[in-house]
Amino acid sequence: MAGPAMRRQAVGVNVGGVMVGGGAPIVVQSMTNTDTADIEATVRQVMALARAGSEIVRITVDRDEAAAAVPIIRDRLAVLGHDVPLVGDFHYIGHKLLTDHPACADALAKYRINPGNVGFKAKRDTQFSTLIELALKYDKPVRIGVNWGSLDEELLTRLMDENAAAGSPLGAAAVQREAIIQSALLSAQRAEEIGLGRDKIILSTKVSDVQHLIAVYQDLAARCDYALHLGLTEAGMGTKGVVASSAALGILLQQGIGDTIRISLTPEPGGDRTTEVKVARELLQTMGFRQFVPTVAACPGCGRTTSTTFQTLAQDIEEHLSRSMPEWKERYPGVETLSVAVMGCIVNGPGESKHANIGISLPGTGETPAAPVFVDGQKVATLRGADVAEQFKLMVADYIEK
Ligand code: SF4
Repeated sequence: MAGPAMRRQAVGVNVGGVMVGGGAPIVVQSMTNTDTADIEATVRQVMALARAGSEIVRITVDRDEAAAAVPIIRDRLAVLGHDVPLVGDFHYIGHKLLTDHPACADALAKYRINPGNVGFKAKRDTQFSTLIELALKYDKPVRIGVNWGSLDEELLTRLMDENAAAGSPLGAAAVQREAIIQSALLSAQRAEEIGLGRDKIILSTKVSDVQHLIAVYQDLAARCDYALHLGLTEAGMGTKGVVASSAALGILLQQGIGDTIRISLTPEPGGDRTTEVKVARELLQTMGFRQFVPTVAACPGCGRTTSTTFQTLAQDIEEHLSRSMPEWKERYPGVETLSVAVMGCIVNGPGESKHANIGISLPGTGETPAAPVFVDGQKVATLRGADVAEQFKLMVADYIEK
């Protein structure tokens, strides 16, 4: 069977107990959109993201009040039983905030540095050096996160001038991609010169265009062995953001590129921030890189499924499996590899159900009101009545017990 390319060999980085790269499973991470100085709201959102499956959570640290809140948030989360590593997102004044707030520097599991606004050129060299020295002092890894919306203008201008002087062999987009990559690599090199080990450096080079993102990461991956954080920045809202992120990250992951992912979705007003975590997990699971919950295969339904029983059962089973998973995992390691099929009629129902560990084929319009259940490819029962969903859930639980 064709599968993904062999994972690119990246130096492993320990982020507060979660390994990124070094052969570790691809890590799901996310970011809050609360004001970090609002401790209650931030704790609530970090917990929601962690419960949804975010293995690392990034929070904005943009001013003194936010930096002062970080250790309190860390302690509050610990008391509540959530030890998810927190990453501080710093821009412009990270060197000052981390210097002035040692408890914040200590509480964070990683510092995100944007070389576009804390570069290492000219007067900004001391800012970048200070951040790296603080990372060394507190024994923390950093992510050097380049974003084309805040690219180092000085570097970009120099590369454009050089390209023009050479007769413009590269187009404008290619020069920009080169500037993004060089910004990351030169910053990482500088961090190493200051003393930070390769096992303390993660790189990201985010752009908002799918094809550019793929090209940038392919190039970056070939030019270094740092662990890579993947993300399509400013992916957008709703379906557009989900599709664009999945297309871009899916292609890179298939090529073996990427050690941790973040899906950057713009939430609908009042929308659920955890959607980005659910999409990230779904992407990794659907491509076969991770298995977080049992896989539920459900047909799309059609004119043969005129009742809502089918949709309700498919949704009900999926929610039931996700909810029960923490307890099952504790009792039965490996249970997450279970596959369940919920199908709408006999056209594809029995066939698809036979491919799953356990599957049910509901009666379509005009069929006998009976739902055959298949276990490991064999028909074992036929369910009838209004409580088919409950009967099937018991059979799934029974299958797991056995
Ligand atoms: Fe329609 Fe049946 Fe196919 Fe489902 S399995 S999409 S109900 S024909």
